Parts: sequence; C-alpha cells; structure tokens
Amino acid sequence: MVLITQNTKTKKSEKTSPEYRNRIMQFAPHSVVQHRNDDGKLETVCKHSSPECRALCLYGTGYGIFENVKHPRMERTRYHHERPVEFKEKFLTEASNNARLASKASKTFAFRPNGFSDVLWENVCPELFDLDIQVYDYTKYPYHERPVESLPSNYHLTYSRSEKTTRKMMHDNFSNGRNVAVVFRDKLPDFYAFLSKDYYNKYSYEMVWNVYSVIDGDVSDLRFNDHSPVIVGLTAKGNDIKKMESKFVIDNDYKCFGDIKMHLNYDNFGGDFSLEENKKTGNVFKVSSDGNANSIPLDSATICYDYNRVHSGMDDVVFLNSALHHVMLG
Ligand code: SF4
Repeated sequence: MVLITQNTKTKKSEKTSPEYRNRIMQFAPHSVVQHRNDDGKLETVCKHSSPECRALCLYGTGYGIFENVKHPRMERTRYHHERPVEFKEKFLTEASNNARLASKASKTFAFRPNGFSDVLWENVCPELFDLDIQVYDYTKYPYHERPVESLPSNYHLTYSRSEKTTRKMMHDNFSNGRNVAVVFRDKLPDFYAFLSKDYYNKYSYEMVWNVYSVIDGDVSDLRFNDHSPVIVGLTAKGNDIKKMESKFVIDNDYKCFGDIKMHLNYDNFGGDFSLEENKKTGNVFKVSSDGNANSIPLDSATICYDYNRVHSGMDDVVFLNSALHHVMLG
C-alpha cells in the first residue's frame, strides 16, 4: 500500500507551479473506518467535523465513488489506527523519498498529509517536519487549538469554515494571519464580509463589516503561497452539495442585501459617490469616505452599515461585486 500519492488537484498545482513536487495522503474521513480507542470510544480523524461537512464531504464525490479509490483510503486509515508505529515508519520513509526525488529535480516537496482528515501531525509525527519540505493542510480546529506558535515553521494551515464556524472564530484566524477557506455554491464572489467583532460597542446605529478579498482556491492546492488576509474560495463539488440547502455552502446570489446604504472606510478612497449595483435585485450601495481608516490593509476594509435598513434575513455574510473591487483597489 502506498500512503503518499497524487490527485487531480496536486497534478493541477504542479502545472501552475512546476517548481513543486506536490503530493497528498488521503484517508477515509471522520469515523468511516470504525475503530475504538483504549477507552472504547470511536476514533475520528476529523475531530472538528460538522454534521454538514460530514454529509457533503468530497470523499464521496468524483473518483471517490469508485471502490478502487475508496479502498486504499480506508486501508490507510485502518493502518494508521491499528498499527501506528509501523504506519509512522512507512509514512516517514515515503515522505523522505519524495523529498529526495524533489530535490534531485531541483524542486520543493509540497506535502498535504490531511487529505480527508484533520490529524495533528505536529504531535503524531513531529519528525516529518525535520525534512526539508513544505507541509500544508486545511483544518477545522479553532485557531487557539493549533496556533501558529505551536506548529513547526514549515507547516502552513488554512482554516476551513463550516456551518459551526462563528464570527469570533473567523476573527481569531484572520487576526493571527491564518486565511479561511469557504465553500460557495456556484461561482466565487469577489469579496466576502462578516460583522466586525465589536460592532455593538463602537457604533450604536450602524453595523461594521469586515471585508476580505476572495481568491480562487481551485486553481492550485499550494495554500502556503497565498497572501494574507484572504478568503480561499472553493466551489461546491458533487451533485448533493450543489442541490442541498446548507449553511456549510454559501449561496452567492446577493439576495440577502435588501436595499441598503453602506459606508466604506478605506484609506485609499477619497470623495463621495454612489454605485448602482446588482441590477437583479435593484440594490443600491452608497459609498463614501470618512478618512478614518488608515491602518486598514489593502485586503480588508470596514463597512458601516445603516442599522435601520438591515434586512431581516441578514446574518454575518455579504457579497460585494466587482464594481466595489475597483473602488477598493483602484
Ligand atoms: S472535516 Fe473535512 S475531511 Fe472531515 S468530514 Fe469534514 S469535510 Fe470531510
């Protein structure tokens, strides 16, 4: 059994970034492989998975529907649970072989050990990080359970949002320099926004929104090359996920806006003007500067939102289309 392999996404990454040898290790997620620990508890390889992410996990989509793909993923997971010492030895041998092959070809070995899992490799196999390689993963662990200072310097994590993610968790990740991956229904928006942490105290009649650029996470899997702060946008894959009503997958149809006025604080922006946006629903954004936001970085801005106009269905998510993109970056 081979532990470290390629998939469609790693192959794509190698095309866009030929300086990397990109590989992944794929398990069967959460408790698909049933194994009880010494206390009789069912083991999971995704401790912070949510009901919706388990229901919609990519594990069962694409080639994952075929037995010859599913089977090795289950075998690897079983091996990890049942013979951890042997597993670790093989895991390290394969990782160093890949590192050697990469170096021979003057490349860097970029390795994602958590394909369909969320294992704490920094604890399970710290020796992995002694190799001259770049390791990266998506994780659903809240930031404080895997802070940057607890990780080896060659281990990069991107937080993966689920329906259980709170606004505070988003802030915790961003304020500590960790990007957040978000699954969108059909296409990616240019921006994703959520309410600022302290909007209640600072503004009695307005809501404050933090806005982040969305990058296309499907182009490459090499997340450690992303700048920060950004939202790593992924489009929903698989028939179930495309149809299902879900809080895990974000709809991108602007419906939640209502007729609102927005006040954008951004240091590069001068002068008042208004934009007519989203002809489909007839929403109008009014954007103006108060010259009050000099410390806000390029990819983040604060929006004050007229509280009286809050649409009843409004939660902590809005989307801004490309016209605002030009305002912010132009
Ligand atoms: S945490 Fe990730 S791998 Fe695990 S079930 Fe959820 S989506 Fe799948």
